[in-house]
Amino acid sequence: MLQDTYGRKFSYLRLSITDVCNFSCDYCLPDGYQRCHNEKFLSLAEIKTLATSFSSLGIEKVRITGGEPSLRKDLPQIIRTIKNTPGIKTVALTTNGYKLTEQLPVWIENGLDNLNVSIDSFEPKSFKLITGHNKLQEILDGIEHALNDGFHNIKINTVLMKEHSANQLQQYFDYIKHRPISLRFIELMQTGDNEAFYQAQHVSGQHIKNQLFSQGWVQVIQDKTAGPAQVFSHPDYQGTIGLIMPYAKDFCSTCNRLRISSLGKLHLCLFSEQGLSLKQFLADDDQEGLNTYITAQLADKHATHYLTEGLTGATKHLSMLGG
Ligand code: SAM
Repeated sequence: MLQDTYGRKFSYLRLSITDVCNFSCDYCLPDGYQRCHNEKFLSLAEIKTLATSFSSLGIEKVRITGGEPSLRKDLPQIIRTIKNTPGIKTVALTTNGYKLTEQLPVWIENGLDNLNVSIDSFEPKSFKLITGHNKLQEILDGIEHALNDGFHNIKINTVLMKEHSANQLQQYFDYIKHRPISLRFIELMQTGDNEAFYQAQHVSGQHIKNQLFSQGWVQVIQDKTAGPAQVFSHPDYQGTIGLIMPYAKDFCSTCNRLRISSLGKLHLCLFSEQGLSLKQFLADDDQEGLNTYITAQLADKHATHYLTEGLTGATKHLSMLGG
């Protein structure tokens, strides 16, 4: 199994398949997507090679992300290819939920196990302000369809922002009272492009944690492929609440994930200084070379990101790599 010099083991791969996004979230792509390269995104064949290589190195869970991964027409085939890779137990997808009702059944048919949908506000006006799209109801309808069809492995990601979600907590609590959904609040992270927005809107998740404890929520133990969220449950709620607090002390000590960009670069951290190109190995379908290279590069994984020092590496926005 992949292990770094700090003893952290890696069972989880986040694979970006495009950096294109159709939403223009304030904290990520406020002016919409602008293409700034002429490179091709990973092909299905390259994705197959990557999945085979990483699974042979002990990766059990792959999350497909972007950009907006559902913009790729071959997403169902990508899901199927990863799902059919021996050793991969879970295929997950993070999406903005655009056209969810139409697309989710096809993804499930092709082997999707878990779905994360990003919803930064349950207030239609705030949602439109943040994302640039009036799509909240359509996305919520898509989730409702999925639940009614018996697909319950759904998480909702919400970025905590002073002016929006952090002021609207009750709506989130109400939403998961009778729905078996895992709602995760993610602290807004600084990236290369969003410093002013970050300074204005960042809020710590600690006050939510205090609120949860004072209202009888209890922390749940997570399995080894789980994400970085601290998860809480309550007997009166069907859903759970997760908190992702990247600025908290020791956040990186449980890091269990590696990342691949849509251009075929290995990123040892979301905020690393550079991606390490795997393209030549992929072009040659060189599994052995790939495995040796990835294993060797892990020696350079740092103990922590440097976000608390305001250093964001090469990451201008998370659409580049997938959040
Ligand atoms: N387009 C997909 C979506 O909307 O979920 C996948 C890509 S998006 C970059 C993945 C996740 O990263 C989303 O939940 C998004 O809200 C989150 N994200 C993006 N920028 C962020 C930031 N600066 N801080 C915290 N979360 C961020």
